[in-house]
Amino acid sequence: MSKQYRGKALWKLPSRGRGTCPVCKAGRIKLLYEMILGSGDKIKVCKRCKNKKVESI
Ligand SMILES: [Zn+2]
Repeated sequence: MSKQYRGKALWKLPSRGRGTCPVCKAGRIKLLYEMILGSGDKIKVCKRCKNKKVESI
């Protein structure tokens, strides 16, 4: 489980782990962190948003 978010492991992910963060709208950023919304939905967010509290998008 170490280095899960580094190196070649990323290339197996859809879009190589990159996309637009639904929280901060940063594009082509690595979305590596799963966040559970207040509504119960799971989303992928960037590292800058992983500690934010988001009720809904
Ligand atoms: Zn973000």
